[in-house]
Amino acid sequence: MKIAILSRNKKLYSTQRLIEAVKIRGHQPVVVDFLRCYMNIASHKPTIHFHGKELSNIDAVIPRIGSSVSFYGAAVVRQFEMMGILSLVKSVGITRAQDKLHSLQMLSCKGIGLPITGFANRPDEIEDLIRMVGGAPLVIKLLSGTQGIGVVLAETKQAASSVIEAFMGLKANILVQEYIKEAKGADIRCFVIGNKVVAAMERKAKSGEFRSNLHRGGSSRLIKITPEERSTAIRSAKILGLSVAGVDILRANHGPVVMEVNSSPGLEGIEKATGKDVAGMIIDFLEKTAELKGKKTVRENTS
Ligand code: ADP
Repeated sequence: MKIAILSRNKKLYSTQRLIEAVKIRGHQPVVVDFLRCYMNIASHKPTIHFHGKELSNIDAVIPRIGSSVSFYGAAVVRQFEMMGILSLVKSVGITRAQDKLHSLQMLSCKGIGLPITGFANRPDEIEDLIRMVGGAPLVIKLLSGTQGIGVVLAETKQAASSVIEAFMGLKANILVQEYIKEAKGADIRCFVIGNKVVAAMERKAKSGEFRSNLHRGGSSRLIKITPEERSTAIRSAKILGLSVAGVDILRANHGPVVMEVNSSPGLEGIEKATGKDVAGMIIDFLEKTAELKGKKTVRENTS
């Protein structure tokens, strides 16, 4: 197969590991910077051009799309889908996961445990908003933030109220969320491929910090997850329509709660913490999916 890895940077650990895994399995990798792709949205023959030429003979794509460029990235993936090319992760899943609020709404609809979460547009009723999510301490999050940037812990009602007012004054979209204190600055990243959690790690915040992001100085280690955590992660990925996902879970007193589902989870942290060949498992899964798609096409053409 000729497999296009849709990535902005060839040198990234995840991209490098996927290139290796593709080659080891006898396929041909090509790295495509999706922001440099342009497309012809035609009903009879949709195409994608890259570096002045039509991209052709691609059998499958692996999207590696960061949230800041997910609007354009999802459009490129959708175009590949329109051309009948298999994508490891569907564009609709990328679009849903990119919008934290939309994903939380979809997950809550299906009964997935979440921290109590509020969303508001105007600062008129901040006191009630704070009461609604259970009062201080609470976490305030910029909807557009990543890697822990724009995630604030407000210890008191007054602090919460000022932070909410400040963010709203800047016209920023924010979530106001119950603080899961008992998680003690740790969260669990479950790496889902298909119907399985293939690797899981605990990320722990450095001392004096509540955000466990590795980019914020957190550390990670292999962890054994409970059956409930496993099924929560698998169900969450499925609800958003993601065949590959990083599901971030907090251990609350009443069970696992999902913070976020990522459609392009990084490989470096999880492979280093668990010693597992996650890149290889992704390509194995892609091969199986391509085989099933091939069989389905043959069935459709002969029936
Ligand atoms: P980002 O997408 O920017 O990483 P997250 O929502 O994942 O933002 O939050 C960053 C970190 O902050 C999480 O990994 C977790 O450690 C901590 N955190 C986030 N929300 C909560 C919460 N409701 N209760 C306790 N800790 C939280």
